Amino acid sequence: MVMAVAPPAPLVDQFGRTIRSLRVSVTDRCNFRCLYCMPEEGLPWLPNTRLMTFDEIERLVRLFVSLGIREVRLTGGEPTLRAGLPELIRRLAAIPGLEDLSLTTNGFLLKKLAGPLAEAGLRRVNVSLDSLDRARFAQLTRRDALDRVLEGLREVEKYPTLWPIKVNAVTMPEMSEEDILAFCELARSRAYVVRFLEYMPLDAAGNWDLSQVLPGATVLAIIRRYYALVPVPSRPGSTARCWRFADGRGEIGFINPVTEPFCAECNRLRLTADGQLRTCLFSTGDWDLLTPLRAGASDGELTAIIRAAVAHKEKKHRINEGAAFVRPNRSMSQIGG
Ligand code: SF4
Repeated sequence: MVMAVAPPAPLVDQFGRTIRSLRVSVTDRCNFRCLYCMPEEGLPWLPNTRLMTFDEIERLVRLFVSLGIREVRLTGGEPTLRAGLPELIRRLAAIPGLEDLSLTTNGFLLKKLAGPLAEAGLRRVNVSLDSLDRARFAQLTRRDALDRVLEGLREVEKYPTLWPIKVNAVTMPEMSEEDILAFCELARSRAYVVRFLEYMPLDAAGNWDLSQVLPGATVLAIIRRYYALVPVPSRPGSTARCWRFADGRGEIGFINPVTEPFCAECNRLRLTADGQLRTCLFSTGDWDLLTPLRAGASDGELTAIIRAAVAHKEKKHRINEGAAFVRPNRSMSQIGG
């Protein structure tokens, strides 16, 4: 008689939040130099020997899926710089139980990669794009590459399996009303879901302060002066609050981690490119999975580390709590967003 083996208990933290989403960084390198992320000269990159191999990523993602993870988002640095990315996507897309596989990218290489990624089984693309003005784009990213990114977005449009196409725009006080309305027109004309994302204290230079945050509510108020909007119900654990244009043309969203934190519903973990588990974007420490994995740890031993990490998952970030807020031990490109 075959005994049914009970599935492992899901990952639930001490605040009753069930973990369903994992962000996996596949590289810390990037081909852009965004002002709010890293210095012009870049950062000391991880040596290849410390990067998770595709076998290691696949093994860990399989393990996480067995523990209840249903959504995986691949991030960086810039994930499209990782050689063989379509092959990794193909392997992850084949994991039974994985319901969603997406990618966050700056879009620079999408013209070339959109097809291979779609054919490999990618489900969605989030493109980071902070201005539709060429000069402003170049100033923000230190790259004159707006045309390439827009070309990449057009290429993604050709693959229905990659819809809905999401565009994430980091908002800063310098973002003009013109910029904001240009993004609304992008959402309306191309049916992209454009999300405005508040600037977070994850810059490598450590210059962030609250005065540099343009609240999502301010951006929403500006848009409402020009367009009628209808709220879109959000899924549990979703970070964005979305609105549809009343005339049905396109959707916009707001990710307001600073002024309207969504930590109470957080269902996310992060795996850095060097195999460190992070329980919060603003964690001040990591849980090492790669060293024990390379030392021959069993799935059971790795699961014990994952469960211990989840048991210590932070309740919330403390950005708005003055001195109580301690900056995380890694910057955005070293975590993967
Ligand atoms: S700040 Fe941390 S706890 Fe809050 S939503 Fe983000 S990852 Fe979750």
